[in-house]
Amino acid sequence: MLDIPRIFNITESAHRIHNPFTPDKFATLGAALHLVPGARVLDLGSGSGEMLCTWARDHGIVGTGVDMSRLFTGQAQRRAEELGVASQVEFIHGDAAGYISDEKVDVAACVGATWIAGGVAGTIALLARSLRAGGIILIGEPYWRQLPPTEDIAKGCLASSISDFCVLPEFIASFGRLGYDVVEMVLANQDGWDRYEAAKWLTMRRWLEANPDDELVNEVRAQLMAEPERYATYTREYLGWGVFALMPR
Ligand code: SAH
Repeated sequence: MLDIPRIFNITESAHRIHNPFTPDKFATLGAALHLVPGARVLDLGSGSGEMLCTWARDHGIVGTGVDMSRLFTGQAQRRAEELGVASQVEFIHGDAAGYISDEKVDVAACVGATWIAGGVAGTIALLARSLRAGGIILIGEPYWRQLPPTEDIAKGCLASSISDFCVLPEFIASFGRLGYDVVEMVLANQDGWDRYEAAKWLTMRRWLEANPDDELVNEVRAQLMAEPERYATYTREYLGWGVFALMPR
């Protein structure tokens, strides 16, 4: 059965937003894009659907999300029903690699899942195939808030090397080199990182209490003991995160 590694379905089971954005950041972004009723939004790696569902409620957009987590896709569907927007948004459980919408969209997004198409450049190219002329691409991605002085510090941020990410001005310049104007951006902050990372710890603790015989107990227990200090030392200090709105030049 197609799914993401089970550890994420455990640690992020209680998250509505699976990245360092908070609800106010998605609201700011939705307002910044001047979304109009009926605008079509495609979201690859849509997680638990919070962006599409709240934009459907607040701006009247219609949209499709594709996500490989069975759990998150189910949560997205339930969230749509809860917010009364189930007729506007559709969530597909599947691999978003290579996904192109039948109808062109006004906004094509990948918010925190650019590995889907092999990185930022590949994901922009994939999203561009679903985009109408004059439409907007959204990319959510980490950048270095402070450049790590050593490779060990980059690894402490769970990057494979310093070269995985750029500092913000360089990251913005890289979109220009791909032929895109950066037309908006909304950046996360450290409080938002806490909501994403620290929220996993209580979920892990509760899961351990409820699942003492599970095969992943040792892995989850090790993460719970290591993560708060690792996160405070590395990710919280060195990694930034943002959503960048792009239009082809
Ligand atoms: N955009 C969402 C989720 C970001 S987390 C949000 O902002 O909350 C990354 C998401 O990518 C997870 O939901 C994970 O299930 C999904 N994912 C990972 N690999 C995928 C793939 N190949 N195809 C579709 N979704 C994928």
